[in-house]
Amino acid sequence: MGFDVYGANPISRSGEYFRNSHGWWLGLWRYCLNLFPGIAGKVERWDTNDGDGLNAEDAMALSRLLEETLKDGTVREYQRGYAEYLAKLPDTKCSRCNGQGEVHDFVELTHPRQADEVPMDLLFPMKLPPLLQCSVCDGTGIESRRNETVPFSEENVERFAEFLRDCGGFAIW
Ligand SMILES: [Zn+2]
Repeated sequence: MGFDVYGANPISRSGEYFRNSHGWWLGLWRYCLNLFPGIAGKVERWDTNDGDGLNAEDAMALSRLLEETLKDGTVREYQRGYAEYLAKLPDTKCSRCNGQGEVHDFVELTHPRQADEVPMDLLFPMKLPPLLQCSVCDGTGIESRRNETVPFSEENVERFAEFLRDCGGFAIW
């Protein structure tokens, strides 16, 4: 899923359309909300695809504010701090194998190709199926949280500010 943001009254090509994937949009709008809750907070349903947005005046105001944070280095500082925060996120124990790196292969038990193909020893509850390397953590027993997080970049803010400047108001679909 992603977000398609359409300009209501574009005065240039860059004001016609802006698109972000779900993660990128989350990172971008969180930034707007953190710094400019007064304007960004007017968009109640920024995280759904049902056409909420800002009018021309507010879009322009948000564009100017974002431009200022681009010029005075606020965005760069935010990006640096955010990258640091991500790097410090602790790794967690893999939830599939409970940090063991291996799991019992129950696939043969639960989805036998044919009943008569199930090896006899798997039918006895005393015996567990063979251990296989866990596919979630590749056998390390560790799940990195860095992959779950939301991307953020100065360049994305730049593109969005440009869109906002020329869009004449927008709707998020
Ligand atoms: Zn695992």
